[in-house]
Amino acid sequence: MHTTFKNKRITVMGLGIFGGGIGVTQFLVKEGAHVTVTDVKSGTDLFQSLRYIEGLPLTYHLGGHREEDFIDMDMVIVNPAVPGDSKYLQIARENGIPIDTEINIFFKLCPASTIGITGSNGKSTTTTLIGKILQQTSKKVWVGGNIGRSLLLQLEEMRPSDIVVLELSSFQLEALSSIKRSPGISVVTNISPNHLDRHKDIGSYVLAKKHIILHQKHSDYAILNYDDPKLRTWETKCNSRILWYSTKHSVENGAYLKNGHIVISVNGNTVSIPCVSEIKLPGDHNLHNILAASCAAYLNGANKQNIEETVTSFPGLEHRLEFVREVKGIKYYNDSKATTPESAIAAVTSFKDLVLIAGGYDKGSDFGEFAEVCANHCKAVILIGKTANTIKELISRKRRSKEQPHVFIANTLNDAFQKANTQAMPGGVLLLSPACASYDMFNNYEERGKQFKDMVFSL
Ligand code: ADP
Repeated sequence: MHTTFKNKRITVMGLGIFGGGIGVTQFLVKEGAHVTVTDVKSGTDLFQSLRYIEGLPLTYHLGGHREEDFIDMDMVIVNPAVPGDSKYLQIARENGIPIDTEINIFFKLCPASTIGITGSNGKSTTTTLIGKILQQTSKKVWVGGNIGRSLLLQLEEMRPSDIVVLELSSFQLEALSSIKRSPGISVVTNISPNHLDRHKDIGSYVLAKKHIILHQKHSDYAILNYDDPKLRTWETKCNSRILWYSTKHSVENGAYLKNGHIVISVNGNTVSIPCVSEIKLPGDHNLHNILAASCAAYLNGANKQNIEETVTSFPGLEHRLEFVREVKGIKYYNDSKATTPESAIAAVTSFKDLVLIAGGYDKGSDFGEFAEVCANHCKAVILIGKTANTIKELISRKRRSKEQPHVFIANTLNDAFQKANTQAMPGGVLLLSPACASYDMFNNYEERGKQFKDMVFSL
């Protein structure tokens, strides 16, 4: 029990429909705090999240915030998705109420060493891979953070010799900078514009991500993607030791590919693992994730066998370029988690003879490059959602000939799926990789992916 929270009156701001505030609420109640949970969303919207805290002694102020919860309190724990300029946070600041976040509390109390993973795409895949490799070693491993699991309730069981693998979002990192903490090992997969609806501009988004290295010590490590031009410029910003990884170049310190081997070279020790042809995950982007994960795990004591066994057996996560089924010679892939143009580009360039279903909610992304890649790689593109017309127009401008690719607009995912099936041929691939969020037609990307998979299974 930590005296910091006992009998304190604490407001948890933002339970979240994805449950970002659940873990910290459970933790604070266990620590003896008097907790008020407040959210702009109503109880009905928050139904799924509320189930996890049902029966706990809590005060609820849902469907909007109340000023008194930010005045007459000992502390406010804010969900990092809440904009920093929120009127209520302003009220808390004016009243001298300390504001903190779940991840900051975790960093302050965690006795184990930490590996933090951030980037615009590939965080969850890389985080999971690191966890899976390290689970094969003798160390105790905890995997959590933005991947959807708060580790606060596990703190009591954690030992200094354990390893914590944490996926960190730009919002969590922004908050972490206020306590000047960075993980002991930081992995950054790539940087592309994302969440610009919430971050002021690309500069503040990149800065938020950069916090993962800014407070590292000399003895810490930063594992960075050498093939990402933005990340290469971070060389001068790191206090810690840099390990680069690349699928294109050999690097002196870090991880790369050579003659079908993964080569890891750290502090003069080199291991070479002949396994690339056995890797199940499709796409060059997944080779990047694998190199980053292998390097981070190696630093924590994983050996050749641990790495080889994991990277050759891991089939990937649900909704991330997930192979669903082959029917009549057509391979169906669900990549519903591709909510940005960059992640969908990674998917589209992973296949030949491709029929693509894309489009969705408009986050204000630039689809120029995505449209060009579609024009060059797809046989047909079926578009849905708010962005359908924009993407169609852009593809039409970039396409190679009048015929290819065929571009259609459909009203529903079901219509798109029917149309896509008329375009796909045996030996080819039918892929859902929207390049957009799902909120215009679905509750979330999981629901979109599940509906797609149901359609594939009903064939
Ligand atoms: P994140 O946690 O950063 O959202 P995920 O591992 O969940 O990343 O993958 C999200 C989407 O991005 C999926 O469509 C996946 O295929 C794609 N993706 C995964 N790794 C990369 C990468 N390194 N570069 C580009 N796209 C990627």
